[in-house]
Amino acid sequence: MKQQEGPRQVVIIGSGPAGFTAAIYAARAALNPLVLGGFFWGGQLVLTSDVENFPGYPEGIMGPDMMAELRTQAERFGAEVRTVDVNRVDFSQRPFVIETDDATITANSVIIATGATARRMDAIGEEQLFGRGVSTCATCDGWFYRDKDIAVVGGGDSALEEALFLTRFANHVTVVHRRDTLRASKVLQQRAQENPKIDFRWNAVVEEVVGGDRVAGLRVRDTLTGEESTLPVDGVFVAVGHQPNTALVAGQIDLDNAGYIAKQDDTTTATNIAGVFAAGDVRDRRYRQAITSAGDGCKAAMDAERWLEEEGIAVPDLANEVYSLPGV
Ligand code: NAP
Repeated sequence: MKQQEGPRQVVIIGSGPAGFTAAIYAARAALNPLVLGGFFWGGQLVLTSDVENFPGYPEGIMGPDMMAELRTQAERFGAEVRTVDVNRVDFSQRPFVIETDDATITANSVIIATGATARRMDAIGEEQLFGRGVSTCATCDGWFYRDKDIAVVGGGDSALEEALFLTRFANHVTVVHRRDTLRASKVLQQRAQENPKIDFRWNAVVEEVVGGDRVAGLRVRDTLTGEESTLPVDGVFVAVGHQPNTALVAGQIDLDNAGYIAKQDDTTTATNIAGVFAAGDVRDRRYRQAITSAGDGCKAAMDAERWLEEEGIAVPDLANEVYSLPGV
């Protein structure tokens, strides 16, 4: 028999910078938030190494360490964090219903902060060398490629934006694209084509990321001739799109045409369901930074707090306070 719990004032689904920041703010508003952080908690940052662009860490910090600190900070103010996956949500009734393997939890408000997953090329060696020359974030890792030769895979706006950004550091950038026409906007195409540090490898599919401890090159197949060759590079930035993690809420929450949670207005984190809010990469396909996600998490907690107050249910969740007492 599953444990029945609730209603909680705020349940946060997801444990990246958006989820934990929402938890910090909701906890400090005495809303006793419950974070359902997923079995693999911590979001995309646990897959990165150094984070050097988050304000407040002048020496940089390792991604997993930063997420552990955010978790500790949320827990310090009384947020309860469970590293369990959510199997199902039901937003058709109030309080809302959230199911995990062990519990059925009801909630007066919910913040969805399930993030996005960078798509992979599915090339041999890609996963093994991830974080050791394979990256999905030029803004995060470009700095480490001063005077190096690198490749960017993809033909969309992200690929060209990353390629252009990387020319600030790299000696040379090769854009590897599986077709001979780019999907990216004309202005980015023109900028990339005019940049002397960038060239293009057309009709090329990466079959293998080659290397021992670190990336040493790409084994690339020409899709027209079938010929294979090796492109020697020190790093490869995979920019083949992101997949927002919305499977859990699809059918209940409105999504935009790219599958991200649809924004209801320009300023708040509201979704089409009153009382359900969204924060971070699951609703943002433009910025996708830890700091912008954290900002979104803050907004979502404040939006939830205001909404609960307007609904007349924002009484500090004293009945549930026992959940956060160690050993109870
Ligand atoms: P995208 O537009 O979906 O482009 C993905 C690219 O990766 C495509 O060129 C695609 O090739 C290629 N690709 C997909 N799967 C691949 C695979 N397995 N192997 C090799 N190549 C693969 O994604 P995005 O560039 O991340 O952009 C997402 C959205 O954000 C877009 O709407 C974009 O306009 C927007 N965005 C805007 C800006 C800006 O305005 N400055 C910046 C970044 C992103 P095909 O072309 O053959 O399909």
